[in-house]
Amino acid sequence: MKLEEIFSEIRNCRKCELWKYAKQAVVGEGPENSKVMVIGEAPGAEEDKTGRPFVGRAGKLLRNALSSNSLNEVYITNVVKHRPPNNRKPKKEEIKACSEFLLTEIQTVKPKIIIALGSTACNFLTGEKKIKIAIEKNYELMGAKVLVDYHPAAVLRNPKLYKTFEKKIKEAKANL
Ligand code: SF4
Repeated sequence: MKLEEIFSEIRNCRKCELWKYAKQAVVGEGPENSKVMVIGEAPGAEEDKTGRPFVGRAGKLLRNALSSNSLNEVYITNVVKHRPPNNRKPKKEEIKACSEFLLTEIQTVKPKIIIALGSTACNFLTGEKKIKIAIEKNYELMGAKVLVDYHPAAVLRNPKLYKTFEKKIKEAKANL
């Protein structure tokens, strides 16, 4: 399936209620043959406004960390494609309903490395609930190596996490 076909399905999706509260769907962004795929939780306010993933403050932190480590060809997406109201965490049933899109994106892009940002992506992609445990391990999914990292929004709240956050970005680069 081509990415554009997946995006069109996402834009027309009504499988959970999140579309009702969002301004628009936020689909993935980046080259279809990216070796690195970054997966966050769900769109926030800025993403909902612009229709692009990771463009708010946390997104800028992520994009700067990627480019300063020469990771320029990266596909960026989220587990859930419509913004949950008031930035709440997506519910289990919403993640389940939306997961088919993410799995198809992984199948299409075939990344070598997946960076799972934050506990929702970590839990969905590795089955591990505790990010502190998952961050120390490596996982595999659909032929990709999965690295777990802190969500950049958590790094903004606690700048002490930046060192570990960037270490995982460097690890992704070293594994290409
Ligand atoms: S969040 Fe996902 S499952 Fe829910 S309506 Fe949007 S695209 Fe569909």
